[in-house]
Amino acid sequence: MNVFSIKTNPKSAITLTQKNYNEKTRRSAPYVVNDGTTIHSYALCPACQNPVTLVNRNVASTDSRVLYAKHSGRSVPGVADHDQAAYKDCPLHNPERFDSKTLRESVARNDEILNALRNHLHLVVNVLEKATGMKFTDALVAGLLEDFKSNSGHKYRAVTLYNLPFGFAYMTEGRDAWGCRVSEDIAAGINANSTEFEVDKYMFVKRKEGVKLRRINLYFDNHRVGNEDCGSDLVDLVVVEIDTATDVSTVLHEKTLSFDSGLFFNTYHRSERLRLLAQKHL
Ligand SMILES: [Zn+2]
Repeated sequence: MNVFSIKTNPKSAITLTQKNYNEKTRRSAPYVVNDGTTIHSYALCPACQNPVTLVNRNVASTDSRVLYAKHSGRSVPGVADHDQAAYKDCPLHNPERFDSKTLRESVARNDEILNALRNHLHLVVNVLEKATGMKFTDALVAGLLEDFKSNSGHKYRAVTLYNLPFGFAYMTEGRDAWGCRVSEDIAAGINANSTEFEVDKYMFVKRKEGVKLRRINLYFDNHRVGNEDCGSDLVDLVVVEIDTATDVSTVLHEKTLSFDSGLFFNTYHRSERLRLLAQKHL
């Protein structure tokens, strides 16, 4: 995983970087321990609050040299006791690709995902819009919701409150990008490669004058789970033009989006706390 937390705020995920880690732990016990021959670096998993061990901090011990954290799998004195049940249930433990079809056992967790989308869809859409460089139309969001529901996206173990924006996006199908506002790189791809579509000066995807034989779609593909080779999770955004008669498609633009599993939870959690506060007092 590429997030961690510390004892003073164990559920709050922090992006794992050398700088953040040193600042939060002050490079001191109980997090940093010198056993006489080796320096061991520990922290907490923000999802299950079990101890995690940092790999590649200061000295690279794998060829890839990417700093990451893994569950320690045992108690670490002064940091936390290992809780096997929480560990087994932890969404950041053995994270799965969005393609894997493992169903979650907990119906309560499934409902939690649905309620998060019902109550906080704007957060999910905000994250996706920022990552993709697109402003989604309401029709596109409606389509994504329909696909997610039909795919029963909330029932898959891979989709969690920690990666919800990207898990949500991945459990959808190709959807119409017409009318979306796009960033300059996407606009350049569309304007260079599309036959029937263009991006106007206001950066909206429009249909060119003339025949209407094609549609423009976007979809998400190729999820890679963050590991020692690459700290962040990756997902590809693909914009394609499809000939409706022949179903032949042309890729107009493709880009890789990286995201830190764990960070969305902070945003979601705060919104949920505020929602409950308002409900309680008003
Ligand atoms: Zn965990």
